[in-house]
Amino acid sequence: MNNHENGASGEFILTGISGSPGICIGKAYLVDREGVDVIEKYFVGQHEIKSEINRFKNAVKKARTELSSIIDGVPEELRDNTYILETHLLLHKDKMLYDKTIEIIKKDHVNAEWALKKATSRAVRMFKQITDPYLGARAADIEHVSDRIMRLLAGIEEVNISGIDKRVILVATHLTPAETSQIQLNRIMGFITDHGGKASHTSIVARSLEIPAVLGLETATSVIKNDNFIIVDGNQGIVIVNPSEETLLDYTELRRRYAIRRADIIRSGELPAESADGIVFRVMGNIELPEEIVGVRDNGGDGIGLFRTEFLYIARNDFPSEEELYEQYRETVELMAPHPVTIRTLDINGDKEIPSLPTPHEDNPALGLRAIRFCLKKPEIFTTQLRAILRAASHGTVRLLLPMISGCEEISESIRLIDSAAESLEKDGLPYNRDIQIGIMIEVPSAAILADAMAEMVDFFSIGTNDLVQYTLAIDRGNPHVAHLYNAMHPAVIRLIRHIVDCARAKDKPTYICGEMAADPINLPVILGLGIEELSMAPQSIPEIKNMIRRISVADTSRLMVDVLKKNTVSEIHELIKNRFGDMLYSEIYAR
Ligand code: PEP
Ligand code: MG
Repeated sequence: MNNHENGASGEFILTGISGSPGICIGKAYLVDREGVDVIEKYFVGQHEIKSEINRFKNAVKKARTELSSIIDGVPEELRDNTYILETHLLLHKDKMLYDKTIEIIKKDHVNAEWALKKATSRAVRMFKQITDPYLGARAADIEHVSDRIMRLLAGIEEVNISGIDKRVILVATHLTPAETSQIQLNRIMGFITDHGGKASHTSIVARSLEIPAVLGLETATSVIKNDNFIIVDGNQGIVIVNPSEETLLDYTELRRRYAIRRADIIRSGELPAESADGIVFRVMGNIELPEEIVGVRDNGGDGIGLFRTEFLYIARNDFPSEEELYEQYRETVELMAPHPVTIRTLDINGDKEIPSLPTPHEDNPALGLRAIRFCLKKPEIFTTQLRAILRAASHGTVRLLLPMISGCEEISESIRLIDSAAESLEKDGLPYNRDIQIGIMIEVPSAAILADAMAEMVDFFSIGTNDLVQYTLAIDRGNPHVAHLYNAMHPAVIRLIRHIVDCARAKDKPTYICGEMAADPINLPVILGLGIEELSMAPQSIPEIKNMIRRISVADTSRLMVDVLKKNTVSEIHELIKNRFGDMLYSEIYAR
């Protein structure tokens, strides 16, 4: 990443990724973690294999005991995050790690450390091939688990974060979620790391602790010394080392303003998102796992607008049973009651392959056998999920959402399978609810064009702008070389959304939005002006968007749209938004 050095004052800036917002100023405390990375390979004789395997098994046992006692010692305010550590406990016995290491010791006649290293990098490689950032970040979970076992095998001391007795900012190559969970809020002000990204669990824990964190700095541990004075700006993802007096004064003021503003916004999170002219919008949360509901509730979310169910399939080597899925969905629905939970059916392949069913090679996976196409080709897998959803629907308000619809036949075929899932539940005498809303994600231009026909077949539309922008503009959403062209404010996207909303309205159906577009305040005047009735986003963005909605008049956004729809370029559209809403939007955005 970029390092800007200012030799005269000694101040320099490191640029990384914002892991958790906020600003903290203080002394650096370096967390030393050498050792685990330097593992040597040696061969073990046939007669030593059994004892080498036992050495590995014992290390795993000790690692699990250590982790269990960390879980037991997690303070009350962090209990919501222990699910991450519980997952790590399970990973210790994961086939990819545990069985594979033993197999390598036996087959290659090598030491346990080397075998574990080999098994880990193989598993990590598999996860890293997944381009979805959330799932790709699970590679880090495997690494954390492997590190703990490795440390025990090699007899390396663990970093004892709970033992730090000064008020400091942690500087580490990486921090595991277990270590992050031991952070004492009265001592650790924030942390920065060389590795890691926004979707890592370490960031998730930092965000729920509400301490600033900047990750992916690459060189922090080599250029920062113990006791160096540093400023961590988690909002911008930068770290200022040895700040000048002027920078320090500026940041002290920024930190004060940020704290006041954040407190105001969170306090108002429970208030409804009612626009300045009295129109109430629902602002919902996007989740991948039931555990994330707490975040949605704490941030004042009005329900779950998108439950990406594929995670329950991806983080394992086999398919979940109907019973397992039912339990997960039921828990989600009950925890969120009386608010609705929108369960999206399996959206795998494309960028999210599942290990239990590797797909044959596809030259263009984004255009391949993904989401609803996969489910209709594998009706037995689809039906298991549909039965679980219909059963969970008897415990609260469930909406069912079908992803990547590109033609009307896919809708009628899906509804036929939903009906037959209901019939089979009836025959089995299991409680279920077929009387639920069924919607489709509009992510493919053909669905947008056919929105009038599709609106007759379903109860609601939810626009997945992440994919709709990708397919409309022909820009791979994960390709950094074309990222500068990827823009939801493209006039073609805006006109397409207008068409979708008009078609839905003509049939008296609502249109929602659940892509990343909804979480960026700059887009809000256009989203409201287009007639979207409900927005769904990452839980942390909910209070800010609700706060913005309260300051905007929908009548003004409708007037804005008359002119936006006449513009042909992104920059002209941005200019219009800035002229009409600039004062309010930009003062809020820059106050972040
Ligand atoms: C989208 O495409 O906008 C969406 C919400 O779905 P996902 O990001 O899971 O593809
Ligand atoms: Mg999508």
